[in-house]
Amino acid sequence: MENLLIACDFDGTITRRDTLHIIVEEFGTRGLWAAIEPRLRAGEVTLEQAMQEEFATVRATPDEVRDVVLREAGLRDGFPEMVAWAERRGHRLIVFSSGFRSVIEAALAHWGLGHLQVVSHEAVFSPEGARLVWADRGAICVECGRCCKRHDLARHSRGEQLVYVGDGISDRCAARTADLVFARADLARDLAAAGLPFVPFEDFVQVREHLESTASLAA
Ligand SMILES: [Mg+2]
Ligand SMILES: [Zn+2]
Repeated sequence: MENLLIACDFDGTITRRDTLHIIVEEFGTRGLWAAIEPRLRAGEVTLEQAMQEEFATVRATPDEVRDVVLREAGLRDGFPEMVAWAERRGHRLIVFSSGFRSVIEAALAHWGLGHLQVVSHEAVFSPEGARLVWADRGAICVECGRCCKRHDLARHSRGEQLVYVGDGISDRCAARTADLVFARADLARDLAAAGLPFVPFEDFVQVREHLESTASLAA
């Protein structure tokens, strides 16, 4: 198989549970995400606005955030083995997240995967309230009207075939640029509704086995 760029979402993809939800539920206003999510799905607020609204209520030190994430997030089965497999085969695996670098890197380091490249936003946590630091995603995406992961993908691509692995709203637009998409949860429902092809997955053993049995992504 040709060399691949395996673009992998973090929350709800590498992790079993979304770390943003965990942090807000633990340190922010309980139930706030459930209240915001329908407005997000309906397109009444952007993902960035929803996140800003949520994290304004989060009061915790960086260590407190790290501890609860490590306790609650959970690593999806087969991910470390998938990383090792990609490295053996010469594929690049990069984490593209709409979450926060310090949280993601702490979790990956805890799982022995601290060497992975992470492209994400950042949050500065403090007892006075969290401040979100948005990464530069270039201009508004012409496809979705937001500053989306599509920009990050384009910037990090070396022209390899693109495999996208994701689960959520922040993956919708970027996944549409991939040669092969593995999707679960909201992303799977969204792609199915749009009549777009994807491979369903619930763990990374399935992802690796599918890639191993695929001679070429070229249609
Ligand atoms: Mg996700
Ligand atoms: Zn977009």
